[in-house]
Amino acid sequence: MTTAITLRNLSKRFPDPRRPEGWFTAVDSVDLDVEPEEFLTMVGPSGCGKSTILRVISGLESPTSGDIFIAGERVNQLPPKDRNIGFMFQGYALFKHMTVTENIEFGLKLRKVPPSKRRTRVADLISLVGLEGLEARQPRQLSGGQQQRVALARALASEPRLLLLDEPFGAVDAKVRQKLRVDTKKLQRELKVPTILVTHDQREALELGDRVVVMNHGRFEQIATPADVYDNPQTEFVARFIGRTNVFQTVLEEDHSILPKGTRLNVMVRPEDVLVSALPDPSEPQTPTLVGTITDYSFLGRTVRLEITLTNGTLCTVALPKGDALKKKLGLGGLVSLEIAACHAFLQGDGSNSPNGSENQEAIRSDVSDKVASP
Ligand code: ATP
Repeated sequence: MTTAITLRNLSKRFPDPRRPEGWFTAVDSVDLDVEPEEFLTMVGPSGCGKSTILRVISGLESPTSGDIFIAGERVNQLPPKDRNIGFMFQGYALFKHMTVTENIEFGLKLRKVPPSKRRTRVADLISLVGLEGLEARQPRQLSGGQQQRVALARALASEPRLLLLDEPFGAVDAKVRQKLRVDTKKLQRELKVPTILVTHDQREALELGDRVVVMNHGRFEQIATPADVYDNPQTEFVARFIGRTNVFQTVLEEDHSILPKGTRLNVMVRPEDVLVSALPDPSEPQTPTLVGTITDYSFLGRTVRLEITLTNGTLCTVALPKGDALKKKLGLGGLVSLEIAACHAFLQGDGSNSPNGSENQEAIRSDVSDKVASP
């Protein structure tokens, strides 16, 4: 089946006289295949190149090298207006002096869609995004969430073959943002329009994406389902960026198939993968190797988050269901033992400087938890 969008070896450099090479690489040789009907989210820290990718796909920027295919057609030379892409920018500037209806139908007028067809399309879109009754209002008479719905309807007006959303839920409060997320996902499922949504919010990326692209420094660190990105991070960056994680520096205690004993590793452990029990009698000799004191206790509704200071001074975050914390009588100042149920190990640094760095990373991702020293 033809992909909705394909990027091949795509790079974008911007001139930068301050750098010795004279340019800055915002997007660095990325490859991507978005399936028809797929909702793809792209997440990464500020400045990693997310918006640049959307701008290159839409034609607002041209790539320095590489190819862009939309529905199998190479579009590198195609002007933005002929790409038939719905684009909702960060800030989504609506036309201030136009009504909701006029904002939504603006693109259709440009395309010379006849008035009767326009009216039907706008009415459909208004009901689709839930703006009935507000047709005659101007943007200043709308809430932030309503304005975003107008912007979304405007992006969808020309029945685009691809929808690009750049931080679409920016300036609204958390509750409205959540509602917009749910509605956008529903809408995308209904319309089946392939969509790429850019966000710096990892929760949003996990919640909305059929797959998630995690980006850093112009490169794709991992492209996978939300569950895989969370449970099987392929790089240390992904493990740190997605979800909370404990990072312990440690060494291999036994020889591994390709890594010698003594290799320094970073071990990543999710807070929910640390099993915690109260120590009934601290004076008893302890079999568990990890012992610590609860130095912070946060009630988060269904879960409880504990900060535990281990005897060697290392801090460890633990998350567990509220009921378990009560049952186990865990409280501030309590002495506890810890057990690590699952972890991911990465060579210290990104391993890329060592010979066969990436293969080593691959190899140690296979379970080494029984071979590493405790934090
Ligand atoms: P944010 O989440 O903050 O919006 P981003 O990941 O979307 O960040 P981009 O906007 O794609 O990042 O920018 C990537 C890098 O490219 C940044 O360092 C930015 O300063 C640089 N950049 C973007 N556009 C230009 C331009 N027209 N000229 C020079 N540098 C640019």
